[in-house]
Amino acid sequence: MAFYSQEDSTEDYLFKIVLIGDSAVGKSNLLARFARDEFYPNSKSTIGVEFQTQKIEIKGKEIKAQIWDTAGQERFRAVTSAYYRGAVGALLVYDITRRQTFDSIGRWLNELHTHSDMNVVSILVGNKSDLKDAREVTMEEGKLLAESEGLFFMETSALDSSNVVDAFEMVVKEIYNILSRKVM
Ligand code: GDP
Ligand code: MG
Repeated sequence: MAFYSQEDSTEDYLFKIVLIGDSAVGKSNLLARFARDEFYPNSKSTIGVEFQTQKIEIKGKEIKAQIWDTAGQERFRAVTSAYYRGAVGALLVYDITRRQTFDSIGRWLNELHTHSDMNVVSILVGNKSDLKDAREVTMEEGKLLAESEGLFFMETSALDSSNVVDAFEMVVKEIYNILSRKVM
């Protein structure tokens, strides 16, 4: 499996990154916020694009993050293996106001590991941090799970933009760092 693809002489990089997690945790809105700075208050699974490419500059290099959204496949509690193919990064998303979506993370991790390389750079994302009064999962629980599974961790809000860019950029930067170490 290609770890990354580098276009000829331009030193551009293309990283495939997948969004996974239960239905309605906010995956499509995180992508909409990151790539288009938009938010959809009443989105159904209809706003999903297949993937969206966003440019990020790291140390003078232009990185293209190709971020894949499930387009509603996760309603069947699984997504196809084609979705994971070639992925070098993953955002595992749950909703801090629905414990059930946090409890599902183990299953999503298994699926990710079944269909892709073990060294996919992954971040656990607790979304909807703006809904403080409805919180069912503490930040500490998120941190502990992330530590035990070797994942980065962040709480985000696609609604108020909190940590959204940071979560995506953290994954892209780590992939880039691993890659630079391999090349040198
Ligand atoms: P997906 O099924 O995981 O792609 O989830 P969506 O992006 O479609 O979002 C599901 C619902 O949660 C929609 O009604 C969104 O408006 C809402 N939502 C998504 N992110 C946030 C957030 O950060 N805060 C709040 N309050 N609502 C959110
Ligand atoms: Mg969606």
